[in-house]
Amino acid sequence: MAFQDNTHESWRTAVYGALLNAGKAMTAERFNRCGTSCKLSCGHCGTGRTIAQWCETRVCPDCSARRAKRIRYRVINLMKGHPATGGHRAKEITLTVQTNGRFREAVERITKALPRLWKSYLWRDAAGRRWHEAKREPGKKECVTGAVCGLEFGPRHGNVHVHMLYLGPYLVFAELRAIWRKLVGEGSVFVCAAGGARAAVAEVIKYMSDLKKLPGSRVVELYEYLEGKRRIRSYGILRGVEGEAGDDQEQPVCTNCGGTTWLTEAGLEWVLRHGRPGPEPGG
Ligand SMILES: [Zn+2]
Ligand SMILES: [Zn+2]
Repeated sequence: MAFQDNTHESWRTAVYGALLNAGKAMTAERFNRCGTSCKLSCGHCGTGRTIAQWCETRVCPDCSARRAKRIRYRVINLMKGHPATGGHRAKEITLTVQTNGRFREAVERITKALPRLWKSYLWRDAAGRRWHEAKREPGKKECVTGAVCGLEFGPRHGNVHVHMLYLGPYLVFAELRAIWRKLVGEGSVFVCAAGGARAAVAEVIKYMSDLKKLPGSRVVELYEYLEGKRRIRSYGILRGVEGEAGDDQEQPVCTNCGGTTWLTEAGLEWVLRHGRPGPEPGG
């Protein structure tokens, strides 16, 4: 569909321009080359090889979608290992915080509140006890609930919010809302008990990679507020499902000599780029 491609391309062009304007030239070039192939030659024997290169920048919807797919796969696998017991269901929870254009402050408030909400309310053991109740008892404290969530900006005003997938018992909505408001001041909570676990996972993870709801020119600006912060967080039995950006990429091995050092066409050493947070928002 030409129209869609065109929109996608102009969105990417706007992001590329915004990255350059923000002085992130290296990230901009990586972003610009995302999805293209790259010719390499083995540094030892010269055997040629073509690989796809992904930018793994946070502002890239293609890389976000690939990452989301991996997260979804891991979540579903983990859920198979923890069959729902005693009324545990998957829920989509949306947590908002009043933003009013003060993005940095709102991000700060929400990122502080999340682990507190987890520990004070969402953490449960098999008996349904919360952490502060369970810790009074002797013995091992075993968490049976889990959450994975992504920090987002709203499409119109960039309002800061979190989409969370929660696996756990029934939650008393009024309680959850009261605790959330105590933690963030002004903010709201929406809970949706999804039809099925898979549907909930798909829904929440889809939100997490939906960067294109924001104008391309805005994405770079807003994502700067997330610098040095993890956008995706996970807790309890879902801890670690987000992995690291780019962790599905393996160092290619030369079929001829087994070498793992590769040179680009320009003769430079090619390094597999793991998307660790750096000084640029690419992360
Ligand atoms: Zn990319
Ligand atoms: Zn070789």
